[in-house]
Amino acid sequence: MAGAGVNLFFQTLLDIVKAFVGVYNVFDKQYASVRYVGWVENTMTERIKVIQGDITRQAVDAIVNAANPSLLGGGGVDGAIHAAAGPELLAECRVLNGCATGEAKITRGYRLNAPRVIHTVGPIWYGGGHDEDALLARCYQNCFLLAVRHGITTIAFPAISTGAYHFPMERAVQIAVTETRRFLESQPALRKVVFVCFNGATFNCYCKILAGRPQGKAS
Ligand code: ADP
Repeated sequence: MAGAGVNLFFQTLLDIVKAFVGVYNVFDKQYASVRYVGWVENTMTERIKVIQGDITRQAVDAIVNAANPSLLGGGGVDGAIHAAAGPELLAECRVLNGCATGEAKITRGYRLNAPRVIHTVGPIWYGGGHDEDALLARCYQNCFLLAVRHGITTIAFPAISTGAYHFPMERAVQIAVTETRRFLESQPALRKVVFVCFNGATFNCYCKILAGRPQGKAS
């Protein structure tokens, strides 16, 4: 009888301990997930900014150029960046031997407010069956990798491939936002990513995909 009583005592004690451990685990997991989600969301809101404006005027560590494979300048944002940076940029680009689609190369910014330019070549839209999505994602990934390797903490992007290369805007913005969020989650060193939209339609598209509401003032 006494033995059974001792067993019951220890069984009850064990149940109590298990119950506490269970509650602790549930609490700990919930707390951890809340803290994680909160951290990511807060950090994202602070670290991703959308503005309507001209990327050549941005005072960040690096602006991204939606270049063509020659890296020797062109129209659109590429032409605007070369015009604002001055001929020294073209001289530096000449010795880079071009850039493949999805890859990225870095130069100085010369007369720009940004001391660095990261040149990436987005894919031309051929209807979606030519690896366009993956190649555009690679552009963002490679820009971020170069940025971190060069100690860049603030970076501004145009909507790569959405101009002369005709990538559908919403699809391109979704890729830009997905890749940016993924990178920011793993890289606390990158403090700010600015999406610079040249027109209102692009600005609205980023806002919709990021949060469904405006996130920054037009400038
Ligand atoms: P791509 O050949 O990659 O399509 P474009 O330069 O034609 O490159 O267009 C890419 C995006 O950059 C388009 O959404 C276009 O409206 C935008 N853009 C053009 N000029 C500027 C600028 N000065 N600042 C920011 N974005 C720009």
